[in-house]
Amino acid sequence: MESSDDADIGRAAIDAIEALGSERRLEILFALADREWEERTNGYVMSFTELYEAVDVDSTSQFAYHLKRLVGWFVAETPEGYRLTYAGDKIVRAVRSGLYESPPAFDAVAVDGTCPVCREADLVADLHEERFVVRCSACESTLLVDSFPRSQAAGRSPAEITESFGYRIWSAFVATRGGVCPECYGRADASVDAHDRDGVSFYTVVSTCRECRMVIHVPIEVPVALHPTAADFLRRHGLPPLETPLWELFGRFASDDWTVDVASRSPFEARFEITLDGETLALEMDDSLAVTPVDGG
Ligand SMILES: [Zn+2]
Ligand SMILES: [Zn+2]
Repeated sequence: MESSDDADIGRAAIDAIEALGSERRLEILFALADREWEERTNGYVMSFTELYEAVDVDSTSQFAYHLKRLVGWFVAETPEGYRLTYAGDKIVRAVRSGLYESPPAFDAVAVDGTCPVCREADLVADLHEERFVVRCSACESTLLVDSFPRSQAAGRSPAEITESFGYRIWSAFVATRGGVCPECYGRADASVDAHDRDGVSFYTVVSTCRECRMVIHVPIEVPVALHPTAADFLRRHGLPPLETPLWELFGRFASDDWTVDVASRSPFEARFEITLDGETLALEMDDSLAVTPVDGG
């Protein structure tokens, strides 16, 4: 394997992560975050003396040494004193949310929706290898997989955890619609992937972040469902997109209610028809993934 990925890491990242390996330095970050919280002010600046008094160190020279290790990465130095940087803020929130603790526990719960593979209404939300999955109990197909941070389980019942994934999955997709990575907010590029399985073709939109390499796959029907005309149509027929967990729509996408007619894979060109309660809406998607309603659909 090429070693270019290793070269990408760089000394700066190693130095920054090393700087965190000290209880005193984490205390400094937490002291700044606690004061921000108390003062209800993001980026609250503490003077050297205030910060020194808030941290349990024996001498100012020892304190100055620890603080210096953080400055530039996690703490910004200003003429008035010190404040958390974006990276410092992220570290404090990661520790507070339990990112570095053991993974969450979650008991499987039944969820609404039908399986797009076997058409059985037998879906379950479950925890599998530290990830949230929605799978079909009848045919054992996995329909959806997402990361499962500990904080998402905290203070929620299994049903509430599942509901929170319903919203979170939409929020990630809403961001990628604008070319924004939901993880690092870097630029994400979207393209259409064609899949051929058991003689059936289906399509997904894949968004890939240029910065952190986060990859998000969604059925191609998802950007169509979010077009204002389609969203309004779905809402009128009792399927408001952002309030209906995505997995509930998978069975719909695979049914005769939703048809996808791909005229060309490259450049991509497709027509969609959604029929609900006897009413049909037609939309088109072009190679830029722009969706347009079609008159007289
Ligand atoms: Zn199934
Ligand atoms: Zn990213």
